Amino acid sequence: MNAWILDESPGSYRWGTIDVPEPGPLDVRIRVVTSALNHMDLWLTKGMPTPHVPHVPGCDAAGVVEAVGDLVQTVAVGDEVVINPAISCGRCRACLSGESPLCPSFQILGEQRWGGHGELVVVPAVNATPRPAHRSWEECAAFGLATLTAWRMLRRGRLRPGHTVLVVGVGGGVSSAALALAKFAGARVVATSRDEAKLTQALALGADEVVDSAADRWNVEADIVIESVGPATWDKSMRSLVPGGRLVVCGGTSGPKVEVTLPRLFFKHHEIIGSTMGSHEEWAEVVDLVRQGLPIVVDRTVPLAEYPDALERLEKGEQLGKIVLRHQ
Ligand code: ZN
Repeated sequence: MNAWILDESPGSYRWGTIDVPEPGPLDVRIRVVTSALNHMDLWLTKGMPTPHVPHVPGCDAAGVVEAVGDLVQTVAVGDEVVINPAISCGRCRACLSGESPLCPSFQILGEQRWGGHGELVVVPAVNATPRPAHRSWEECAAFGLATLTAWRMLRRGRLRPGHTVLVVGVGGGVSSAALALAKFAGARVVATSRDEAKLTQALALGADEVVDSAADRWNVEADIVIESVGPATWDKSMRSLVPGGRLVVCGGTSGPKVEVTLPRLFFKHHEIIGSTMGSHEEWAEVVDLVRQGLPIVVDRTVPLAEYPDALERLEKGEQLGKIVLRHQ
């Protein structure tokens, strides 16, 4: 098949031919219609982490089932599906207790296994979900990893209607999804960015208030802060928490280390909560929300051949929402 391929890491992607992946007894092979970019695509080119090579990137994809393993009964050839990018063993204690993100053999599509930026992709049948009705192929590729991640973050932050949620650095996939999900769940949302155009777009997407990230003080009182920026915003994010507030973090685009002011943490009963990806139950909830009309923010759709340009846009942080690749 043809795919975008990484031959070494650090390295860069090339368009080429690679073996057609064969489904195991419990797997399905999908002909990809649309896929979406994630920061993972960039990190893999920098050796953070280093994948087994040759590697096919792409954490998000949607398409049509082309072949199924001998034991698969839930999915049939011809089904239109979206892929849950969170892959786990299904047998360990974490998986059986519904906490599959804690599975010792947890994998992300396009990281530890070949992903969706090629013609075909193989995933466990349990990770192929019927495509939500009335949503475009672009939307189907655009919500997976980011919305799943944002939903688990909000759940771990114990979101309730009426809460104030601060979304730091709106523009990325997870932060845009968090904005949409929190509004859908009846929260008040404040969004920050350094970019005036992104703040204007955040208001258009339903944010109740926006704040310039560069301001000395944000003057926000948030029950939950959704953090993915790290050291560049950390102190202002912590200062924005109400007593008892929760800061939920899924990454650090500005760096890996932060300082915590301990007296503020314990006097104010703050919680710092790590989170990544989501469980099968959370995935089912996300797909249900998408079926109900959850807004999905697509920055733009480009042909698969324009992947390198799309990666550059992502690296520069110019996007608001997901960049989608059209395969067919
Ligand atoms: Zn497991």
